[in-house]
Parts: sequence; C-alpha cells; structure tokens
Amino acid sequence: MKARHLLAAAAAVEFAHLAPAAVRLPALRRTVARRTAGSGAAPGHVALTFDDGPDPRSTPFVRDALDEHGARATLFLLGAMLERAPALGRELVTRGHEVAVHGWHHRQQWYPAPARDLRELRRATGAVTDLCGARPLWYRPPYGVLTAGPALAARRLGLRSVLWTAWGRDWTAEATGASVFATARPGLTGGATLLLHDSDCTSAPGSWRATLAALPLIAAHCRAHGLTLGPLRDHAVGPN
Ligand SMILES: [Zn+2]
Repeated sequence: MKARHLLAAAAAVEFAHLAPAAVRLPALRRTVARRTAGSGAAPGHVALTFDDGPDPRSTPFVRDALDEHGARATLFLLGAMLERAPALGRELVTRGHEVAVHGWHHRQQWYPAPARDLRELRRATGAVTDLCGARPLWYRPPYGVLTAGPALAARRLGLRSVLWTAWGRDWTAEATGASVFATARPGLTGGATLLLHDSDCTSAPGSWRATLAALPLIAAHCRAHGLTLGPLRDHAVGPN
C-alpha cells in the first residue's frame, strides 16, 4: 500500500504541475489547439469524459450515477485496466457510452521512441476495439502531455487526440463533491470538455468518491443552464 500511496502522490504532484499541453502551443496553431483541447462546436453540449478506468472498484458506481442522470460519457480506458475487467468495458458500450484510448500503462514517456509509442498505442487501441466491441475514435495522453511520438501514432491509428477545457481536480486527497463541482463550474459552458476520473489508480486513494458526489451537482447545473452532458462523439470537434 505504501508504494501505491507514493505512486499516487507522485502522479498527483506531476499532474498538478502540468497544464494541458494545448495551452503551450503557438498562436498560429490556435485552431488546432482548440480542437485538441476539446472545444466542441455543438451549442449547448458539454462533453463528459472520464480517465483511467475501467476499475471494478469504482467504475460501476460512476456508470450507475450516469444512468441515474441520463448522461452519456466518453471513457478513456487504460489497456492494462481493461485487460483485467473486460466485461466492464463492454458493458459501458452496451449502456451507450463511448470508449476511447488513454494508453496501455499510465505513464509519460520522457524520451522519444516512435516505434514503442506506436506499438503501445496499437496494443491499447486493439484491446479497446476487441474487448469492448467498439472502435475508438479518440486518444488522450496520460497527464495531458501530448508529445510528437504518441500524437503521430494516434493519427496513424485513426485516433483524434483530445485533451480537455475544464477539470474538477478530482484526483487530489482533499477533493470533495462540492470542491470538484466548484472547480469545474466556471468551465461548464457550451462546447466544453470536462475531465473527471472513474478510477483512483493514478490519483489519491478513494478520490473517485468525490467525483461520484460531484456528478449530481454537475448534472443539475447543466440541466438548469440548458446544457446537455454527452460523449465526445456528439461534440462536433473538428479534425486534428
Ligand atoms: Zn489519466
């Protein structure tokens, strides 16, 4: 457990220091950056996205909460997690959710190795396709750091890279339903892409409970403001 705590803490620290990569792109590439960030063209639509699952300890709670609020989402799956819970991955699809690719392991590669990037992403994409029974359209890199190797590999595999425009900072040990909602709220506008997590495998242990507690607040807010929560496929994000 100690190693796990250390890992989670390291991931949280790392994540905390990294803004979405699109923010750092030059102005000339602003349109591409906007698309990569997840800005959609569908008015009144907020893309609801979850990373790091499927996790048998937490994803079923999130899945049931989404059913309760009539919301559909895009779940960025890790191949290593999906391999251990294939039935859960498939069930997400049968319940109307969209599955996408977050990589095989949750790690940021610090040195370029295009062949390795393509191999790992191909393996993860194949697992999502075969085990969930749906071909993924989207790729989101771990920690939101999109480097050239994985970006090119994603394109080669027919995946669009997408980050997010809003988050709830739901990966921290201090997160609560109220804090996740308060953090996400200013970004909940038409065309937004909201990042949440349905697993704590790279976050503070149990942090998914804060995510779960935030979902009714987020759903009620969106309903009151005429916003529809849905998957990225309904978001009309342009090509990148
Ligand atoms: Zn992640």
